[in-house]
Amino acid sequence: MTELTLINPSDETVISTIPATTVEETDAAVARAVVAQRAWARLAPLDRAKAMRRFADAVDGAVEELAALEVRNSGHPIGNARWEAGHVRDVLEYYSAAPERLFGRQIPVAGGLDVTFHEPIGVVGVITPWNFPMTIASWGFAPALAAGNAVVLKPAEWTPLTSLRLAELALESGLPEGLFQVLPGEGRVVGDRLVEHPDVRKIAFTGSTATGTAIMAKAAANVKQVTLELGGKSANVVFADSDLEKAAATAPYGVFDNSGQDCCARTRILVQRSVYERFMGLLEPAVQGVRVGDPNDAATEMGPLVSRAHHNKVASYVPDDAPVAFRGAAPDGPGFWFPPTVLTPSSPADRTVTDEIFGPVVVVLPFEDEAEAIELANSSRFGLSGSIWTRDLSRGIRVSRAIESGNLSVNSHSSVRYTTPFGGYKHSGVGRELGPDAPFAFTETKNVFIATEES
Ligand code: NAD
Repeated sequence: MTELTLINPSDETVISTIPATTVEETDAAVARAVVAQRAWARLAPLDRAKAMRRFADAVDGAVEELAALEVRNSGHPIGNARWEAGHVRDVLEYYSAAPERLFGRQIPVAGGLDVTFHEPIGVVGVITPWNFPMTIASWGFAPALAAGNAVVLKPAEWTPLTSLRLAELALESGLPEGLFQVLPGEGRVVGDRLVEHPDVRKIAFTGSTATGTAIMAKAAANVKQVTLELGGKSANVVFADSDLEKAAATAPYGVFDNSGQDCCARTRILVQRSVYERFMGLLEPAVQGVRVGDPNDAATEMGPLVSRAHHNKVASYVPDDAPVAFRGAAPDGPGFWFPPTVLTPSSPADRTVTDEIFGPVVVVLPFEDEAEAIELANSSRFGLSGSIWTRDLSRGIRVSRAIESGNLSVNSHSSVRYTTPFGGYKHSGVGRELGPDAPFAFTETKNVFIATEES
């Protein structure tokens, strides 16, 4: 493939075609990154911090522009896209404090002084998916740059436009040439080359479990560090003692946000049997009330799916004889529209319960008691996110501790705050992003012992 054709998901028009990066161009970018990184790492921490703040300011001035690009390229509703661009700014601002806070430790030892240093790894490859193109990119590049690394970012084939604009903003704000480069192109070409390139010392990957598994295997060949943020099939556990009205009213937003193309989507609603009928009665109008349509309309809550191929994949999980309890509305087309859909499969072994569909499709299953709720929640091979609805806070904490998942919320569907760690158990990933420790994940720890005793 020599070029990428970018399609507007809400009307299927061609936005543009852009050249796809080759292996040779990838190697040249890595070579530039190696040079830029050495100079960047030598800068005083305060100067790196100031440069990061200028980059954040440049993003702040481009929030509307970035949001408009994401609406066209990814079909995100404009309100969401504005939030995403603002989030990138906030993540940059947050990590701009990190260069001056990469504290090492002084450890008591006999015969001398022992200190640790956190040194940059070098060149980091950040490989991102198409569902939240700019926010997920920032979770990789902001802490990596703050820790003194250079970044080569490979955005997803369908959605490179906001990442490309961010790289321009980095340059315009004064970040050195070569320090943050974005290479649009194919995963099997650019992504693969970054994973095997000896001068790329770490891969921060977000995407499907299948690709993450392949990357981890390949990275093993040259003992390369990897962080993997992978798929999810999170549970939304609703106990009979919860505020059922609130649980039902918010459940659609826990799963249909970003058209269900959200790794944290609570796509398995588990409801205590004694309130199952009442919950379904409340859920139906909530699902039908989700506003699906024109992404440029500020009132829109859900846009289209990202592509025709992805639409076909999602649709394959809802054949004509699927156990549809009820559905919301969606425009006819053109565009890759899919209505919010609620399924009631008869068995937890059904593939709609086990697979990550990554569209606006949710399954609802009943459970008898707390033990069965935990067992069902943990029956997934994924473990990224989840919610627990109950008025009994002890139960909320007990069940949170029992569910094998990296991010849980009680009486809320919140998953991501850039100030707190984020990542998955089991097939949902390896390592954590965000929070105060993220820059340390982009460093090597060096220990130095200085003898103080005459020997
Ligand atoms: P994907 O795995 O198909 O692609 C992700 C990226 O990997 C793309 O940039 C792609 O070009 C690249 N890639 C593909 N093959 C490669 C290879 N052989 N070597 C190197 N790079 C390669 O995923 P997707 O379809 O873009 O994204 C959806 C998936 O991402 C879902 O499973 C979703 O759950 C997951 N996701 C996870 C998180 C998280 O934080 N855990 C966040 C968002 C999305």
